[in-house]
Amino acid sequence: MPATAKKTTSKTTSKAPPKKDAKAAAKPENKLAKLGLHNDMDLALHLPLRYEDETTLMTIAEASMRGLQTVQVEGVVTKCDVQFRPRRQLIVTVGDDTAQLTMRFLNFYGSQQRQLAEGTRVRVRGELRHGFFGAEMVHPQYKVVNEGAPLPDVLTPVYPAGEGLSQAYLRKAIAGAINRLDWSDTLPESMRETLKLAPFEASVRLLHNPPPDVDEHALIERSHPAWIRMKFDELLAQQLSLKRAQAARRAKTSRALPVTGRITEELTRVLPFKLTGAQQRVLEEIRADLRQSFPMQRLLQGDVGSGKTVVAALAAAQAIDSGFQAVLMAPTEILAEQHFRKIAAWMEPLDVGVAWLSGSQKKKEKTEALAHIESGAARLVVGTHALIQDTVQFENLGLVIVDEQHRFGVGQRLALRNKSNKSFSPADAEAATVPHQLMMSATPIPRTLAMTYYADLEVSVIDELPPGRSPIVTRVIDQNRRDEVVERVHAAALEGKQIYWVCPLIEESEALELQTATDTHAALSAALPGLSIGLVHGRMKPVEKQIVMEGFSRGAIHVLVATTVIEVGVDVPNASLMVIEHAERFGLSQLHQLRGRVGRGSAASVCLLMFQGPLGGTAKERLATMRETTDGFEIARRDLDIRGPGEFLGARQSGDAMLRFADLGTDQWLVEKARDTAQALLEHAPDIVDRHLARWLGGREDFLKV
Ligand code: ADP
Ligand code: MG
Repeated sequence: MPATAKKTTSKTTSKAPPKKDAKAAAKPENKLAKLGLHNDMDLALHLPLRYEDETTLMTIAEASMRGLQTVQVEGVVTKCDVQFRPRRQLIVTVGDDTAQLTMRFLNFYGSQQRQLAEGTRVRVRGELRHGFFGAEMVHPQYKVVNEGAPLPDVLTPVYPAGEGLSQAYLRKAIAGAINRLDWSDTLPESMRETLKLAPFEASVRLLHNPPPDVDEHALIERSHPAWIRMKFDELLAQQLSLKRAQAARRAKTSRALPVTGRITEELTRVLPFKLTGAQQRVLEEIRADLRQSFPMQRLLQGDVGSGKTVVAALAAAQAIDSGFQAVLMAPTEILAEQHFRKIAAWMEPLDVGVAWLSGSQKKKEKTEALAHIESGAARLVVGTHALIQDTVQFENLGLVIVDEQHRFGVGQRLALRNKSNKSFSPADAEAATVPHQLMMSATPIPRTLAMTYYADLEVSVIDELPPGRSPIVTRVIDQNRRDEVVERVHAAALEGKQIYWVCPLIEESEALELQTATDTHAALSAALPGLSIGLVHGRMKPVEKQIVMEGFSRGAIHVLVATTVIEVGVDVPNASLMVIEHAERFGLSQLHQLRGRVGRGSAASVCLLMFQGPLGGTAKERLATMRETTDGFEIARRDLDIRGPGEFLGARQSGDAMLRFADLGTDQWLVEKARDTAQALLEHAPDIVDRHLARWLGGREDFLKV
């Protein structure tokens, strides 16, 4: 901390001082821990974000000729004082033989003024501009040095740092760790050579202290052999850990749910359609898993509208036929409600008790539902994340189904799976059983991602849409043709079609989003006086939402003005026209989800994407993708290209930055190598597996186990 640091020749400072009332600084060790750095290996693997080249000096005259680029100069302070115009600031003039420059600090400590007294020699690094005071640097980094102090002969690493952790502190801590470590390579020499990988120790050392003649481009791009070794090791640790987790899962027990009896048969009979081949196939895969006495962990992927719900219902039927309860959790109230209605309509005539549970339920209803869940009167429970609350206790839960699983955090899914069953006392060995788990998602995960993030999941894919769907035509239309769009809505309604009108996403302000939805509703009501226009948004009470959705389902509402609350899962087959305003503000998968609300019936469907120009590059790409394809897998692939895997999965999915170094976009080839190596090591060298995991994951392995 500058306020307390002694005047040394190695101090570097560029940070503004903290506010006066800031608490006493926490111990640096605690701050390291906050960064996840607990031991020497953690420190050694805390690799630089970038490097600064402090190996050369320029004269001030030379530096002033450079454009906006970081330069390093050295000179002697000729003047140092506090000025008050235009506001209080510390102005320090430094000169060398060629010219002078001004350092300007808007925030500074009194000690800095003393430290930079006239005659002090300083090395200064920053961007030199020509400003108010002539050649100047605002808040440069500087270092007090003695004349002739040597320049570093390696590039200076810049580390990811937490608040209050200085680069100097990190550098010292890391250098210390590097000198103490046991460096033995976890990969046997022969294996390392076959894989053409650089040695571990040399790679780590080089990344912390690269020589000035290093291929800097390769360092920045992370394509340098030293980086490749880091990425490989990291991916290897991930593969090993996932494979171990898989083995651990297989060692757990679940209740086998082998029976497909009355409920399954009758449900199949009352369905108003025949399952597609793909539905039949995935159902067989699920059924086989449910017969096992270790927990199923299966991801059911199927594009929007491919018919996942009925597969879930039939899986639940098998659990019920086998004498156990099943639960279905959905991420939004609207979707959960819709599942409940549909499934209750199928199941209740078969004498299967179906319970509904949501956060907004009246107390009395909720108490009743909880009682039914606990007594076992409810065989199937549908709800929102209210289901994971402690008050929910099952009689004998056998199967957990999570719809739109990517909307939930890992912790939430886990909480539902860990629900205890009332009839088992904790002392009972049976209490250790876990329910089978089926997760559903319309966001297809490309193969590389599936291989890493989901290596512990079995995956089933519905790759066929139910018959009789006509393809959706998508048009991209400029906002200034809104009148034509309204006319088109009118014409469609007169033909008996139903229309969704999706209001713009306004990320910064929910209030504004609401306002826009209300305004749009008013404007459309005025423009289309003969039609019934409904409005649904996130702030409405669930019962209000429900009334509107029901009106739309029945056909009593012609046009439904909606915010993105309708994004997931909503199913009204008669709706065949969708208008999305300000489509340029939505992400690709969101647009795909939204569009999936139409094209569910036999009428030809149209999606109009209205945009306000001018469009940025990515927005253009997204809208073009939407126009060109309705294939969810293709859209996911392009989305991954546009956004990269981290964002694609979202922080929740990717966990606590599970991959720090490897990039699944560019390092796919390494993933495959790592996977094969993991397999070989698990079979032939379990001791290496342990050492490698300890080195790379330390205590973080638990996270991967979920
Ligand atoms: P999603 O996979 O997006 O969750 P849904 O389960 O909501 O899709 O199904 C979409 C629509 O297709 C629903 O109206 C559903 O009843 C219908 N459906 C499902 N399977 C079939 C089928 N095999 N034949 C005809 N319609 C089906
Ligand atoms: Mg669905």
